[in-house]
Amino acid sequence: MSTPTIVIAGAGQAGSRTAASLRELGFEGRVVLVGDEPHLPYQRPPLSKGHLTGAAARDNLWLHPWTFYDHHEIELRLSKRVNRIDRPNNRVELAGGEILDYDHLVLALGARNRTLPLDGNELDGVVGLRNLAEADDIRERLARARRLVVVGGGFIGLEVAATAVKLGLDAVVVEIADQLMGRVLSAQMAGFVLDAHRARGLRVELGTSVTGLTGTAGRVSAVTTTDGREFPADMVLVGIGAAPNTNLAEDAGLRVDNGIVVDEYLATDDAQISAVGDCTSCPNRFAGGTRVRLESVHNATAQPRALAARLVGRPELYDSVPWFWSDQGDLKLQIAGLGVQSSHAVLRGDVDSGRFSVFCFHDGVLRSVESLNRPGDHMAARKLLALGNCLTPEQARDPDFDLRAHIAAHSIGDPVVPAHRATSPRAAG
Ligand SMILES: Cc1cc2nc3c(=O)[nH]c(=O)nc-3n(C[C@H](O)[C@H](O)[C@H](O)COP(=O)(O)OP(=O)(O)OC[C@H]3O[C@@H](n4cnc5c(N)ncnc54)[C@H](O)[C@@H]3O)c2cc1C
Repeated sequence: MSTPTIVIAGAGQAGSRTAASLRELGFEGRVVLVGDEPHLPYQRPPLSKGHLTGAAARDNLWLHPWTFYDHHEIELRLSKRVNRIDRPNNRVELAGGEILDYDHLVLALGARNRTLPLDGNELDGVVGLRNLAEADDIRERLARARRLVVVGGGFIGLEVAATAVKLGLDAVVVEIADQLMGRVLSAQMAGFVLDAHRARGLRVELGTSVTGLTGTAGRVSAVTTTDGREFPADMVLVGIGAAPNTNLAEDAGLRVDNGIVVDEYLATDDAQISAVGDCTSCPNRFAGGTRVRLESVHNATAQPRALAARLVGRPELYDSVPWFWSDQGDLKLQIAGLGVQSSHAVLRGDVDSGRFSVFCFHDGVLRSVESLNRPGDHMAARKLLALGNCLTPEQARDPDFDLRAHIAAHSIGDPVVPAHRATSPRAAG
């Protein structure tokens, strides 16, 4: 019998983790990891943080060194784009015509940045941030720029804006909604973060959107907004979210609905094709069982682990508490769970000290916890959410209530699964 081949399309966080997990779990067949970028698989979070100031060394970006792939016999095909999936013949076609046969295909294609539907996108100085090449370019531009406008008050926009302020730029964030990070954060936490950014010198304009990008001699010079204002800029970062890379799947006739549709085992409708990471739409217990598409390192590592287990014959439900972090200058935000639909927010800790958490409840059930500079609460929250409905708002509010002892007491026996339904607050749009 010939050795089975698993082809992984997309050599980012999820693709690389799938290959590594397959080997960790003893898969002995051929593993081919195909990516269209020229670099070794790397982590993206530093791109909007330490990489821009030089605080994060380039060598620390790589998820594994070259030797790792050699040692584990993972065939890396870099600078190679997968152009087509030929399902009837179980093979993929790479740019340039090379054909790879597969016994199983994993789609780990990530997401791409949304662009503004406006003239002026092509002006020099209008940038987006998703990959290393763009981060290198932004780092150089930040060193020369004086005035930055960030379009979109989401995680990536705020991380870059906070860095720009630290570097001495005059930075403005223009956000269409009336709160920052509105898709993912409670009003309480967003309000605190807004005040903190403003206190550090970042201008934030809420409730207004961009109507135009103007330029001089091909270079961006200003951003105009719906309220008739004009913000001078020599650099504009567009951070208005990302769309999943689903074209390959769609062209191959796979089901797509804000992501490649997979079940709790990361399987598509084709038994020989699975999908993981930012490009997937997957049922999630913490979203009441509805399908969500998540953009986070946790999701891009936990899904591949569950998938690899199934591919080696030990099926494992993908059932891990979602979590996420964002470092915005000295503000260290950590979020566990999915809870923007929550109706009851409870504060724990001291807001004035800048170290506190917001515990979000819905129908009395803990849905998510947002922690600012309180990593202990975040770790406890992940355990509490995994355990199910075991914390009351009163307990969360009480500073003397010992969360760790409470978790230890409830960890004996089976986890309690909460009987709640919800939409997808931490979901990527
Ligand atoms: C700037 C930035 C900062 C972030 N910060 C955080 C953070 O602080 N915390 C956090 O939890 N998450 C963060 N994230 C999100 C996190 O990095 C992603 O969720 C994670 O990288 C997703 O992994 P992935 O493998 O699904 O996608 P990716 O890492 O994007 O990898 C997908 C790869 O597939 C390639 N590809 C696409 N189409 C093809 C094709 N047809 N053929 C071959 N290759 C293809 C892409 O070029 C890419 O290399 C951040 C993301 C960005 C962009």
